[in-house]
Amino acid sequence: SKKYVVVGGVAGGMSTAARIKRIDPYAEVLVFERDENVSFSNCCLPFHLNELIVSSCDLVLMTPEKLKKQYNLDVKVLSEVVKINRDEKSVTIKNVKTGETYDESYDVLVLSPGAKAIRPKSIKGVDNKNVFVVKNVGDVDSLKRYIDDNKIDDVAVIGGGFIGLECMVSLREAGKNVTLVEGLDQILTPMDHDIVQILHKEIHDKGVELILNDTVTEITDNEITLASGKEVKAGAVVLAVGVTPETSLAVEAGLEIGSTGGILVNHHYQTTDPSIYAVGDAIEVTDFITNKKTRLTLAGPAQRQARAAADHMFGRTYRNTGVIGSSVIKIFDYNAACTGLNEKACQEAGIEYDVAYVIPKDRVGLMPEANPIHFKLIYQVPTGQILGGQSVGKGNVDKRVDVIAAMIMNRANIEDLKELELCYSPWFGTAKDPVNMAALVATNLLNGEYKQVRLSEVRSLVESGAMIIDAREAREYEEGHIKGAINIPLSEFRQRLDEIPTDKPVYVHCLSSQRSYYMVRELTNRGYSQVYNIQGSFLAISCY
Ligand code: FAD
Repeated sequence: SKKYVVVGGVAGGMSTAARIKRIDPYAEVLVFERDENVSFSNCCLPFHLNELIVSSCDLVLMTPEKLKKQYNLDVKVLSEVVKINRDEKSVTIKNVKTGETYDESYDVLVLSPGAKAIRPKSIKGVDNKNVFVVKNVGDVDSLKRYIDDNKIDDVAVIGGGFIGLECMVSLREAGKNVTLVEGLDQILTPMDHDIVQILHKEIHDKGVELILNDTVTEITDNEITLASGKEVKAGAVVLAVGVTPETSLAVEAGLEIGSTGGILVNHHYQTTDPSIYAVGDAIEVTDFITNKKTRLTLAGPAQRQARAAADHMFGRTYRNTGVIGSSVIKIFDYNAACTGLNEKACQEAGIEYDVAYVIPKDRVGLMPEANPIHFKLIYQVPTGQILGGQSVGKGNVDKRVDVIAAMIMNRANIEDLKELELCYSPWFGTAKDPVNMAALVATNLLNGEYKQVRLSEVRSLVESGAMIIDAREAREYEEGHIKGAINIPLSEFRQRLDEIPTDKPVYVHCLSSQRSYYMVRELTNRGYSQVYNIQGSFLAISCY
């Protein structure tokens, strides 16, 4: 048997090591991890901040002792691999505690060093003792201890990506005054600006100060200063502005780095040196839809790559499909999931697309906990090929988006989704599931049965004095409406047709774009040729 050396003892590294041992129990497998823990749950780290996971020890799923006993794996913690000696096929390891170094030979080397949190030097005070990143158990432990020991009430989270948002929620749930600062005009960039408005509102409603379009310039002991000049009270700061692949070992060893900055690997996750494999957050991957090179820092892909790499070491075949980027997050009472391409990615890839945005109930309305679900389907025009799905709601958004992920990976079409038979009882959904409904809307749009405009266009419509009809009931209209919109409820419009002009464009909206859709369909069928449905929710209109 050969000798396998693995760098990094968490998602990708440990999965590769375990798979090697499952295939060949006689293989010598050595895992080196520079931190004090291996096999911890990165994904659960934020949930220690609100003590959902009470003890940080529980975040560690396996110890080197257990790994030895259960899987016969040799794992060395506090052992940093500082050099790859490709000519001798060995690595140099530094004992993090003593500083001593020694060499270890390998037949096959696996790199799964992950990605490191970015600490922008442009922020004055970024290395202060009250600034924390959240990458491992030690990080989250130190952050929590600092907050508890110093009785800190005000915490700023910098960055509205997955890690920042999860920390924001946990800290708020722990009773802290939280401010979230995001440099862009939206949080959660894998999702589109329109659907994310629901989350912006939820964050605001839960008492977090959400600051968009602003960046941090300075951090002191008790406040942060933003580029706009605004000052925010913050005794502790969580820095979550993104990660960058750990490529230093690979670079120094002369392994090629891809155009996106991740380690370049082939179909089998071999680097430019065939006896060195690389997996996980550190590598460059291929997008399933666009075939473009990209990076994706998610646990599922890391584990799939690990298994594939180990299988290849033993001559097993594997089909490398590339990635689509399926993810889900819980933000207070809302869940948000997405997969595939979003609108920006379609535009960047030059793909012609359209969007079906539906807001039905996530289960039969008579049932307890039935809630609106925002579901957005992105498909190619004119082929109808499914490109992406996004969903926000209080219920099971993940199952809807997982359906879309499966459809994308099978290169399915909106016609397939329309016909897709899914399980149904009132507890779980509706007879026509939101994903089926979105496909119906998409086919109607593709067939030119009615026309729509996007929510983001409403502001310019209002400014240009366009005729906007509010199809909601009068009492809903009175509670708030778009400036200049005329209230003609769906229940009355047949008696008020003389108020709807035929010689100029008319834009119709309601709460969820369903009543407006019915009105638009009927008007279109009655011969009104310039009627448009405003797609999306009235609730999000105020954000534009
Ligand atoms: P890691 O799991 O980061 O492991 C790399 C390890 O290598 C590290 O422990 C590092 O110390 C070690 N290392 C680096 N260099 C050396 C060296 N020279 N010598 C020895 N050891 C070294 N993904 C999801 O899909 N869903 C989620 O909900 C989710 N939540 C997350 C929440 C948080 C707070 C974080 C930080 C990540 C989350 N992720 C999530 C991302 C997911 O954890 C990563 O994509 C995944 O762990 C990547 O695996 P990896 O093996 O490439 O890197």
